[in-house]
Amino acid sequence: MATHANDSRNAHVSRLVRGQPASDGAGVRLTRVIGSPMLPDLDPFLLLDEFGTDKPEDYLAGFPDHPHRGFETVTYMLDGRMRHKDNHGNEGVLVPGSVQWMTAGRGLVHSEMPEQEEGRMRGFQLWVNLPARDKMTAPRYQEFAPERIPVVQPAEGVSVKVIAGEVDGVAGPIVQPATDPVYLDIALEAGAAWAHRLPEGHSAFAYAYEGGVTVGEGEDARALPVQALAVLAGGERLVVAAGDGPARLILVAGRPLREPVVRHGPFVMNSKQEVMQAFIDYQEGRF
Ligand code: MN
Repeated sequence: MATHANDSRNAHVSRLVRGQPASDGAGVRLTRVIGSPMLPDLDPFLLLDEFGTDKPEDYLAGFPDHPHRGFETVTYMLDGRMRHKDNHGNEGVLVPGSVQWMTAGRGLVHSEMPEQEEGRMRGFQLWVNLPARDKMTAPRYQEFAPERIPVVQPAEGVSVKVIAGEVDGVAGPIVQPATDPVYLDIALEAGAAWAHRLPEGHSAFAYAYEGGVTVGEGEDARALPVQALAVLAGGERLVVAAGDGPARLILVAGRPLREPVVRHGPFVMNSKQEVMQAFIDYQEGRF
């Protein structure tokens, strides 16, 4: 019997999802890509928001004090400055190109507020789940200034910031054994293409945020328009290519946890009882 051509095919697009306009915090306008009814989650990823605006009224209200428990929030700034401050005394300012990988663990209360009154504010927030064994771990930050994020040119016209994972032997600074994440910010010049190998068995997605790209190759090639997310499936070797113009995208992957997910707002646990306990602990000031 002939082997079907698809048996050994490369990573390809299994679904295209458009971001949905949303509002969060004290009224910040953003685009929700994961965590919307279109794509409630992509284990281990619980949420992906793109925030990007030149209008101060869209971001000035910021994200005043709010709690998190049971997962990680990852903020990657592209433009603008954001001050974060938590109830354990941690404080800092995220600048363009910096990354904060915050493990909320058993819980903290923090604010994320714009450190500017005009100009452009742009970036991403990704929520990454933690396995049951790590949900009540001590909170911790992996925070890196732009100069700490390595940049690799793995092919002609291709530039990759390695936040997490590895490209041509260059590792990003983020360490998280639970989900073994990959987080790459890829810039393609017009006509440039790049093939990258993703870890076997990971969930993976690509999100184009400047210009459209093509994902996959040959009969699997599909156009990924700007502000759309491609859920990837089927193999480890992924090809991304720009068209007539330059493009930028993030490529993110992580090992799925395959555990029950019970989420309510900023609490993501494994059972209803644990979420109830999170509310009680928060109300009683145990975060
Ligand atoms: Mn937060």
